[in-house]
Amino acid sequence: MKYIGIDLGTTFSVVAYLDELGAPKIIRNVDDENITPSCVATINGSLQVGQRAKRHAHNVPEEGAKTFKRKMGEQFEYQVGNDVLSPTDLSALVLKEMKLLAESKIGEIQKAVVTIPANFAHEARDATMHAAALAGLDVEFIINEPTAAALYYAYAEQEDLFGTYAVYDLGGGTFDISIIKVHNGDVEVLASNGVSQLGGDDFDKKLQELVKEKFEQETGKDFDPEDFTEFDAEQEKITLSQRKRTTVQIGRSLIDIRREDFEEALSSLVAQTEMLCEAALDDADLEPDDIKAIFLAGGSTRMPLVLESIRRVFGKDPTSTADVDEVVAKGAALYAAFKSDREGLSDVQSRALDKIQVSESTSMCFGTISRTYNENREEYELQNSIIIKKGEKIPVSVTETFYLAADGQKSVHCRVTESRTTEKNPKFVKIVADEHLELPGGAEEGDEIDITYSFTE
Ligand code: ADP
Ligand code: MG
Repeated sequence: MKYIGIDLGTTFSVVAYLDELGAPKIIRNVDDENITPSCVATINGSLQVGQRAKRHAHNVPEEGAKTFKRKMGEQFEYQVGNDVLSPTDLSALVLKEMKLLAESKIGEIQKAVVTIPANFAHEARDATMHAAALAGLDVEFIINEPTAAALYYAYAEQEDLFGTYAVYDLGGGTFDISIIKVHNGDVEVLASNGVSQLGGDDFDKKLQELVKEKFEQETGKDFDPEDFTEFDAEQEKITLSQRKRTTVQIGRSLIDIRREDFEEALSSLVAQTEMLCEAALDDADLEPDDIKAIFLAGGSTRMPLVLESIRRVFGKDPTSTADVDEVVAKGAALYAAFKSDREGLSDVQSRALDKIQVSESTSMCFGTISRTYNENREEYELQNSIIIKKGEKIPVSVTETFYLAADGQKSVHCRVTESRTTEKNPKFVKIVADEHLELPGGAEEGDEIDITYSFTE
């Protein structure tokens, strides 16, 4: 059986498969690169994905689309040449490209796992599943990116892993921090926090702004963004990960950029990641000292500033045992095989997977709107009652008892709510399902009604 894992990234996507020995391996793309830009463009009338599309989109923006993962699950349309495409359509094109790549290398694929950020809302999760189906992939499971990364580290370091760890994932478009517990090859997510609008792309924009400021200050001329695009900014940003300064040519002017000035410009973004790390530690009820090691994922973790920030929060150096770009895809490939019935696996492959156990936790609270008596105000009011809490081990099933409000009540208004916190005010929660359930006749006030929520894999 052939299993693949796809890291459908905001800026780059990666595909890995499980080889004959049960080891996850990256499948390189047509440009012989491990990672493929998640960009789509119309080139000579046909839709293309990857490096060529990225360049084309850069040169002719109206014919390309990028960072559409940030709009996943939203009503949004991209005009790409003559085509109007949703974030789901665009993601399907990227997934299809990954599938074709994999097929050209290993032949027909039986099962695939696609990864999503831990903080993806319900709709974005569904949209990802839909994109996979459009791409012709048989996707049974999606897995959170940090969990996939942790799984790969768990697999690679099997002998040594034991205790509580953090997975720090900072890519091109999203930031995720997860606190995980590993016990004899078992990976459990204790807490997960993140933001889908923070990553390398934002750093590129900050560098572009910095260059603009310095250029205008030093030359007195107006800055034309075409002279130093976000594309150029990304190259210079990578240079600044290795060197303390770089020189940018704009027209005939040379602008000197020091790493420390760039880092200064990023301070508010970095402060945001630090707050999220601290909140994740709080959620897991842990102190930095309780974390044995910090595993890295995502290309932006190569930045010295990011490493320094991690040291500041956790009080130790992070661990990076594998290429940070690949850990998520490799973990997903392992998970694809791990979740299978194993029948199609060879003995060697099966043994390689034997020691891994994974359980995920919910990244949101789920509840319902109920009429509750407010003791202080001495009146009834509508309140969000949490049924499944954030951080519950998946799969989870919880039953809560509610009571009918009136004699002869004919129906119950059931709303499923989603919230990041245990918010009680119905105004501040998202309604993800809304139904009226008919009741049998003869209901009386105070009759019990059991509501069961199940969160399945
Ligand atoms: P995503 O999963 O969000 O698609 P990746 O994990 O592939 O993203 O990371 C891509 C980001 O990492 C890009 O913004 C890229 O510029 C950045 N990146 C890669 N290498 C470096 C480096 N050496 N220094 C700084 N940023 C880097
Ligand atoms: Mg990523």
